[in-house]
Amino acid sequence: MADKRQKRLAEGIEPFLVKAGSEVTLSKDFDPRFKAGVKKKKDGVRLLAEGKERLAEYQARLAAQDTWGVLIVLQALDAAGKDGTIRHVMSGVNPQGVKVNGFKVPSAEELGHDFLWRYAQRLPARGEIGIFNRSHYEEVLVVRVHPENLDRQQLPEAAKQGDVWKRRYREINDWERYLSGNGLRIVKLFLNLSKEEQRTRFLRRLDLPDHNWKFSAGDVKERAHWDEYQKVFSEMLTHTSTEWAPWYVIPADRKWFGRIASLAVIGHALMEIDPQFPTVSRARRQELLEIKESLEEQAPKGAAADPFEAEEERKRKARKAGPNHGDQAVAAGPGD
Ligand code: ATP
Ligand code: MG
Repeated sequence: MADKRQKRLAEGIEPFLVKAGSEVTLSKDFDPRFKAGVKKKKDGVRLLAEGKERLAEYQARLAAQDTWGVLIVLQALDAAGKDGTIRHVMSGVNPQGVKVNGFKVPSAEELGHDFLWRYAQRLPARGEIGIFNRSHYEEVLVVRVHPENLDRQQLPEAAKQGDVWKRRYREINDWERYLSGNGLRIVKLFLNLSKEEQRTRFLRRLDLPDHNWKFSAGDVKERAHWDEYQKVFSEMLTHTSTEWAPWYVIPADRKWFGRIASLAVIGHALMEIDPQFPTVSRARRQELLEIKESLEEQAPKGAAADPFEAEEERKRKARKAGPNHGDQAVAAGPGD
């Protein structure tokens, strides 16, 4: 069953995958309006709810196993829905196991270090899911479109010679390879928005007073660099989609579809990790049974030796007696 589901999921996300070594031209190769086989938003909502539930289960196991960490890298143009994706995708999971980090213009302290330093500081630990809302990829995106950012990085002359971007792609790939070899699964999502849909979303933010705060004049300025961004996104996808950390291009013009697609890619990664709750050794199990006995002996007069076990037994009987009896019995039970 799980294998079947994994296969179905793998097939479902295949159209979003950037195969390692392939050359990408964003506008030609990926359609922001693509919605696969999902016909209606209503079907999408159901899929999203199911997927969220499963993600919560996986996250509990990931945390308990404490071996692998997961890093979700989110890149996109403004208004593509990064925040909404994070909100929806993560709304079902235990907040203790998830860390979200946003990256803005680097501080003076951050500029005083190598370009990957600030991202390395905020990687998730084993057992955690970390989300980068913008990421180390800004170093080959906004820094490339606005080269004054590179000037501010205080690099030695030698680091500015030759093809800076090709070198950065290589350095990023090497870093990600090192991390994935050490137990960090990296899931990279690029939310692909069309120019017209971005215009509509900006206008919505202007038209709705409650959304005015989300609008920034800077976003419209960046929009003026649309073609340059399309080019640097395409090159980033071409050079940094690797076997160990592939990119997925998520169609983002329909918010609901973007969310399901993102969830599917994340779910698939977790399925591949397949984290398991740790089991205890025989000897430890024996020890636990002895402790159980001693606790049972401490039961006050009239109380069940093991109230938990008694309650489970009562529920089991109620279920056996049929749905009507069962409902009443369960509803009346203590601790429910
Ligand atoms: P929001 O949805 O709230 O607008 P945001 O991620 O767009 O979220 P902003 O504060 O609007 O947050 O923008 C952060 C800005 O920081 C972006 O314009 C981004 O390009 C810029 N930025 C991020 N990393 C770097 C970097 N390494 N060098 C220069 N600029 C960067
Ligand atoms: Mg912004």
